[in-house]
Amino acid sequence: MTAPVAKPIDVLIVGGGSAGIAVAASVHKRRPGLAITIIEPSETHYYQPGWTLVGAGVFTPERTRRSTVDLVPKGVEWLRTSVRQFHPEANEVELQDGSRRRYRLLVAAPGLKLDWEAIPGLSAALGQNGVTSNYRYDLAPYTWRLVQELKSGRALFTQPPMPIKCAGAPQKALYLSADHWFRQNRLNNIEIAFHNAGAVLFGVKDYVPALMEYVRKYRTDLRFESRLVAIDGRGRTATFSEKGADGEAAEVTRPFDFIHVCPPQVAPDAVRDSPLAGPAGWIDVDDATLQHKRFETVFALGDVCSAPNAKTVAAARKQAPVVAENLLAVLDGRSLPAVYDGYGSCPLTVERGKIVLAEFGYGGKLLPTFPTWMLDGTKPTRAAWFLKERMLPEIYWQGMLKGREWLAAPALARAREVA
Ligand code: FAD
Repeated sequence: MTAPVAKPIDVLIVGGGSAGIAVAASVHKRRPGLAITIIEPSETHYYQPGWTLVGAGVFTPERTRRSTVDLVPKGVEWLRTSVRQFHPEANEVELQDGSRRRYRLLVAAPGLKLDWEAIPGLSAALGQNGVTSNYRYDLAPYTWRLVQELKSGRALFTQPPMPIKCAGAPQKALYLSADHWFRQNRLNNIEIAFHNAGAVLFGVKDYVPALMEYVRKYRTDLRFESRLVAIDGRGRTATFSEKGADGEAAEVTRPFDFIHVCPPQVAPDAVRDSPLAGPAGWIDVDDATLQHKRFETVFALGDVCSAPNAKTVAAARKQAPVVAENLLAVLDGRSLPAVYDGYGSCPLTVERGKIVLAEFGYGGKLLPTFPTWMLDGTKPTRAAWFLKERMLPEIYWQGMLKGREWLAAPALARAREVA
């Protein structure tokens, strides 16, 4: 039997990761009187963009984590549990204990599921025998240990089919590892391959020439349409499904001394099996307003939403104020004022100290934050490294998670009409 349902919460936010905390802060700042609740099971909050730098020995892991309790905005309630079912037709969610919460508006931000189990052998192999991934907090330091230890042999890097969070992260791990081997004069003895399930190095072509220079510098064997399908940690072999010259896919097994795996990624189970899901399992929102296409009391942002932007913190930083503006408009019975342009960003760490700063919106349109004379994102620059190492973590902790919308002011419909 389910518990009796109490008064509806004004704004119920599912997920207290990057997007969930940011949107809570943005809504609370705009209208402090609203009852806002965040449902989040984890006591620890992670700044995942830092894990690439942990895997290269630049950050300590501790720099990338904080307690959730310290980040939930004052005046916002935190329920430490998770949602197991969504019932948007009743404006309700069901929690782990079977009780329900009713809401006036729902903001869904439960991120995505790293599907380690989709690759036979992978879960058991991780963390030993040279098998690692910067996609896990506890394994990023192991990446750096392995990189330092490897003197010779074969190093493999994998990228699964899109969409994944931070599409550049698999190759960032490659470049920073290779840069270390280059500086240690080990590249003659280390054979590097990038097994990419996709057909291109990076989805926005303007950044590819700069990246290709590093691919050549690090003598990387680029293998497109090559997807990891199994791994044997103890035997140190990885099996790929690869497209051959005849266009047919065939399985190829390769030995390795080091392998960095980026896992396949899907919508969380509770979302995929719910009425909120679109055809590919992601929450089916309007690309511009981030309102659900069928349930007007539901918004979604961050990695879980169906909008075809790059799944990044940078995207969530821009999405949070858009959702805040639009959901208040729903409460007030106004038309939705704010639009999201698809902005996402991927700082490609091509060597220690230099970054190719990809910033783009829907359709691959370049959306640089800075004028080219200050920072040309299509070239490797020290300025972009400084931004990633020194400024972006502060913009995250002190700006985005606190409702200070630095570099994130939403475009409002009225402003568009005037323009
Ligand atoms: P998350 O931050 O993952 O948060 C989701 C939250 O929802 C979690 O706290 C989880 O516990 C909670 N949750 C899950 N299921 C439920 C449920 N059923 N009920 C309640 N709560 C639930 N982005 C950049 O901008 N730049 C970068 O350089 C960059 N590099 C990256 C490198 C790596 C290695 C990785 C892994 C990511 C990187 N990203 C980068 C991507 C970025 O971290 C994510 O896009 C971002 O964190 C997405 O925010 P989110 O809130 O949607 O998801």
